[in-house]
Amino acid sequence: METFADHYSSMMATIREQMPGADMALIQKAVEYADAKHQHQKRKDGSPYIIHPLAVAEIVTEMGLDQDSVLGALLHDCIEDTDASHDDIEKIFGQTVAELVEGVTKLTKANFSTTEQAQMENLRKMFMAMSKDIRVVLIKIADRLHNMRTMQYQSPAKQVIKCRETMDIYAPLAHRLGMQRIKWELEDTSLRYLYPTEYQQITEHLRSHRAEDEAFMLAIQDKIDQRLSAVGIENKTYGRIKHVYSIYRKMQAQSKSIDELYDIYAFRVVVDTIPDCYNVLGHMHDLFNLVPGRFKDYISTPKPNMYQSLHTTVIGSQGIPFEVQIRTWDMHETAEYGIAAHWKYKQGTGDGQEKDFEWVRRLLESQQDTDAEDYVRSLKIDMFDDEVFVFTPKGRIVSLPAGSTPIDFAYAIHSGVGNAMVGAKVNNRIANIDMTLKNGDIVEVLTSKSAKGPSRDWLNICKSNQARTKIKQWFKKERREENVTHGRASFEAEMRRAGLPLALTIDPEVSPILLRKLSFGDWEDMYAAIGYGGLTAVKAVGRIRDDLNKIMKGQSLEQGQQSPLRISPDNPNLKNNRHAVNGIVVEDIDSCMVKFAKCCTPVPGDSVVGFITKGFGVSVHRCDCPNAANRDHPVHAARWVRCHWAQQEDQPFDTILELEFTTRDCLYMDVGTVFASSRIRVKELSGKDIPGGRSLFTARFEVRNVAELEAIRNKLMSIPDIVSIRRGQN
Ligand code: MN
Repeated sequence: METFADHYSSMMATIREQMPGADMALIQKAVEYADAKHQHQKRKDGSPYIIHPLAVAEIVTEMGLDQDSVLGALLHDCIEDTDASHDDIEKIFGQTVAELVEGVTKLTKANFSTTEQAQMENLRKMFMAMSKDIRVVLIKIADRLHNMRTMQYQSPAKQVIKCRETMDIYAPLAHRLGMQRIKWELEDTSLRYLYPTEYQQITEHLRSHRAEDEAFMLAIQDKIDQRLSAVGIENKTYGRIKHVYSIYRKMQAQSKSIDELYDIYAFRVVVDTIPDCYNVLGHMHDLFNLVPGRFKDYISTPKPNMYQSLHTTVIGSQGIPFEVQIRTWDMHETAEYGIAAHWKYKQGTGDGQEKDFEWVRRLLESQQDTDAEDYVRSLKIDMFDDEVFVFTPKGRIVSLPAGSTPIDFAYAIHSGVGNAMVGAKVNNRIANIDMTLKNGDIVEVLTSKSAKGPSRDWLNICKSNQARTKIKQWFKKERREENVTHGRASFEAEMRRAGLPLALTIDPEVSPILLRKLSFGDWEDMYAAIGYGGLTAVKAVGRIRDDLNKIMKGQSLEQGQQSPLRISPDNPNLKNNRHAVNGIVVEDIDSCMVKFAKCCTPVPGDSVVGFITKGFGVSVHRCDCPNAANRDHPVHAARWVRCHWAQQEDQPFDTILELEFTTRDCLYMDVGTVFASSRIRVKELSGKDIPGGRSLFTARFEVRNVAELEAIRNKLMSIPDIVSIRRGQN
């Protein structure tokens, strides 16, 4: 049986050695506090419970964490298992320690073992997200490591559950956090309980071959040592057998028995500098035969968990392949202890690429000059601040965008659930359907058969695109009548605004032409589409404008003929056209000077708005021009007037496009060719290289309307290496 004394003195010695400035009196106090709280508890093997927190605190120290983490480790089971409270701990050991203990308790309470495989990644993320302070996760990993080390005292059933959980959650987490050594130990111990036969087989094989393995490794090590000392590269070189679980995985992957598996040796050469790493690599390839395709440079491209090394596989004189990992001492620390190494060794280690590790990289970069305490404090982070993880009442995990509400949750479950929702319970309490969900919330949707369906407000409340899309779909299907009415009103308003005759849309000859142009079977469908937002009224009118204009022109030639199609010049919809200047009708102003704004060069078909200038008449801007953005502002509103395009003769308008390319030769020629072949008159074409390997071209040219502009834009889009096309601003 293990004793308090053994663990206590071992832990204290480790702390003294690794953490010279530690407040030993405070640590002593935590030991006594935990011991008193746990005094009636025993471990499964009958030893006093306090041994466990002592061991966890020692692991945390070995990881290189700080004093608060050690205190947190000593107290980590107090809230969960004893009558100690957050406040008690805060009073004696401070807020940080209390929060660490609280965080570990939360993770301990959450049940991570009963969920389907497919949800593991979500689970791991949630695990991280639940602990705002990364030290909570590290203490929890240390806790699990000690529990794995004492797994033999658990029942076989418990062993399997715990080891499965370790494989699914803790080993991948240790890997994510770059803690190689702990990951290996977690994997090997799990394997031992999950696949005892295979585990025995491998360890037995390794045991029986130990002598030859060691002889082989020594011979190789000597050879490397001799060469490197001959060329004067300071180094530490050692060989090892790969860990049991990785051998097991190789056997599975290659369907081989361990006798057939050669690739089980790994050598490590640790040197002082990065240039030395590459030098050593050269010597390895000179000393041994290279296995092609196995060289990996994780120094120039570090792994997402910040791991850096050069890897190569070579074959020695005996025909046995082995891997060589070459790294500096800094890289070595990072590889062994991962994120924890940075409490002690704070230098940055290159770029982590993966998003999950971005925050660590950013922290490392910004933290280089701060002191250790600040550094640790700043590791309090929200790792997945764009996601929130919640449970269904049955324990399924649903991942939603941060800020999501019960509405988002309901539609994430099923659109039927969302549409029938009448309320929600969060953590068993009735909640508002617009409340913001938090990690770990249990959400239950209350539904009713007589529910009236979603309300339009929900579109503004929900956070996820999924919910928004499904709500829109509902309105599209269920509210057809409403949509038709709504859509018809906006269509008619837009027709009036554009000065087009509504009468034509019901003319039996004209109507089918227009509907074909609009790609709708009948007008109701089109109104419905506008009503639910699938099509804007402006777009719909834009599509039929040219045809209507042509038809009206034809009719005005048929003088005297009495036809219902005939447009009376007194038709109020057309009245304004008589005052068109430069093709623009300024509403409510009879004749005035009209010019086109130089900044946004509008062409017929663009939505436009007019600005009454001081002395130069009305200046016409595109509605999306930045210079027209302030038109709703009360100070400026009075000077902005509505205006629209009149029936248009084929008068050309100047407009500008800006084209961005990836820089290459012949761009001028390609752009020029497209304009020339489209018979478009270019008035100005200039290009220049801009930063980022791009070239920017500005073309000023003539078009008659938006349709023509769109056509030329499409052709320009097909030029190779085009990046983007924008309407230009002068
Ligand atoms: Mn524990």
